[in-house]
Amino acid sequence: MDKKLKIITYGCQMNVADSERMSARLQSIGYAPTDVIDDADLILINTCSVRESAEEKILGKIGEIKRLKLQKPSLIFGVTGCMAQKDGDSLMRRAPHIDFVLGTGRQMELVNIVQKLESFHQKIVEVDGVSDPIVEDAFAPRGARSTFIPIMYGCNNFCTYCIVPYVRGRERSRQPEDIVREVRAAVENGAVEITLLGQNVNSYGKDHRRATFAQLLKEVAAVDGLRRIRFMTSHPKDLSDELIEVMASNEKICEHLHLPVQYGADRVLQRMNRGYTVARYRRLVEKLRAEVPSIALTTDLIVGFPGETESDFERTLEFVREMRFDAAYTFIYSQRSGTPAATFDDQIDDRIKHERLERLMAVQNEISREINERLTGKEFEVLVEGASRTDEKIFNGRTRTNKLVLFTHGEERAGDFIRVRITQPQTWLLRAERIC
Ligand code: SF4
Repeated sequence: MDKKLKIITYGCQMNVADSERMSARLQSIGYAPTDVIDDADLILINTCSVRESAEEKILGKIGEIKRLKLQKPSLIFGVTGCMAQKDGDSLMRRAPHIDFVLGTGRQMELVNIVQKLESFHQKIVEVDGVSDPIVEDAFAPRGARSTFIPIMYGCNNFCTYCIVPYVRGRERSRQPEDIVREVRAAVENGAVEITLLGQNVNSYGKDHRRATFAQLLKEVAAVDGLRRIRFMTSHPKDLSDELIEVMASNEKICEHLHLPVQYGADRVLQRMNRGYTVARYRRLVEKLRAEVPSIALTTDLIVGFPGETESDFERTLEFVREMRFDAAYTFIYSQRSGTPAATFDDQIDDRIKHERLERLMAVQNEISREINERLTGKEFEVLVEGASRTDEKIFNGRTRTNKLVLFTHGEERAGDFIRVRITQPQTWLLRAERIC
């Protein structure tokens, strides 16, 4: 391989998984991944359009590539992912140094497009329709100890703030046997942990009716050699008793659930079109904690949704105090054109949004810290991820409950399972000592 490939990925785990697959396809036609962008013969930016701030950052990065195109005219530059799907050829008009724009449902065209561009200089935009088959070849990178496996694509939910159903299309579930084959191949290639991915994994199989998500989990758990199973994202309205029972009864399924509540007042949940009430969410959490007592629960919360009153926001703070999430990813509502909420005429002032975000984070951070402080002296199994970014003597890893653990590096390597004792818990991570 003498051609070099650089993929820059923004956004969610789904995009990370898509980038891994695109990289594998491009390696099959002679492109070797590089970390040095100046060396690349092919650059892809895999984009996210969930928030306006992400799009601005991506546009800045697209602009930076112009310098490289001027230095090396043979460089091929493509934009993929949600923003490519949403903006299509207008992206190319805005940045004429882009060679191709590839939508979320057309990734199988990637190799053809790159091969065409290697032969002839042209501009290509492929964003219409979905041509990607749901039956894919098993994809299992060699040596990865932890790997992501998409089980479905798209979303049917149309939360009023979210652009995803418009850029990723309707739900398409992969066949259970294809997923299990891919899990088996990943384990044969060294994986010990897999994360099953989808915009809403809890509605897996509702289209083909060959298996529910709970049944799929059982089949995946039966794969010999696999030690840990994770999944995301779970929509509360589709979280079934059957799934909770499978989580409780299968020791390979990690005791962590990311269950985005988004808001703590029914009036706003209804305007968000989330399909559940605060009471229903509370009952789910009670059941989960009764069936899986050691479960760690994380969530997403949005502040500043149109029409949010101080009283709605106070209720949300109260609900957060009551739920005691291990951690919450907190976001300011971002007005996405093309979504219903962007047209609501009661948008919230930026200053109020920021002030509420700070108040929400202060409440959640205190809870996260209290929960973590109670772990002092406790022992956990950790899957080692590698050296920390800032200090190569410090390694990090994850507990089954998905808590980030930092410890002084000894003999261990990425992918090892070790046991640690927590010595210094903090809000977002746990410092620990190795015990075996
Ligand atoms: S469930 Fe709602 S928030 Fe999640 S991807 Fe679908 S529309 Fe967006």
